[in-house]
Amino acid sequence: MARTDAFIGLGSNLAEPSAQLARAVIGLAALPETELVAQSPFYRSRPVGPQDQPDFVNGAVWLRTELPPLELLDQLQSIEQDHGRERRQHWGPRTLDLDLLIYGNERISESRLTVPHPELPNRDFVLQPLLDLAPSLTLPDGTPIADLRSKCPDNHLRRLDPIASDTPRDYP
Ligand code: AMP
Repeated sequence: MARTDAFIGLGSNLAEPSAQLARAVIGLAALPETELVAQSPFYRSRPVGPQDQPDFVNGAVWLRTELPPLELLDQLQSIEQDHGRERRQHWGPRTLDLDLLIYGNERISESRLTVPHPELPNRDFVLQPLLDLAPSLTLPDGTPIADLRSKCPDNHLRRLDPIASDTPRDYP
């Protein structure tokens, strides 16, 4: 069966967010009928919506998969559950959020799944990692991700050093 390029957005702002994302990437790489092509750097961003919550850490991965879109969504939600995610508040704090951003050139509009992800053009913390992964990536309608990134509102995005922890500690 043909493999489809799929891009997944990752976000966390609880329980050591960088470690949550690193563990999620391992989970995504282990999905059936799926290959991990590349992983973006991680970024720190201010929360969307309620501001009385910690900053988020965000990133994206590029998968090549034979899973149909809804099965891929099931797998993403299962990984979210493994990370103890509870949905208490819309746009509230979360241990792990996984979004199916782009699935090949498909446009999907179903009750459980909208692809490309509708918030994609408004979120620099999604667009920048996508650009890092694939600078020439476009939406199915041909819009370059680079164009969306240049028009996107600024969310105080800061690239995290790969060896930096979320909380600097004194040594020894
Ligand atoms: P959220 O609070 O962002 O995690 O929203 C989760 C809900 O969004 C789930 O019920 C999904 O079925 C739905 N959803 C719709 N489109 C997408 C998408 N492209 N990626 C992930 N979840 C989606």
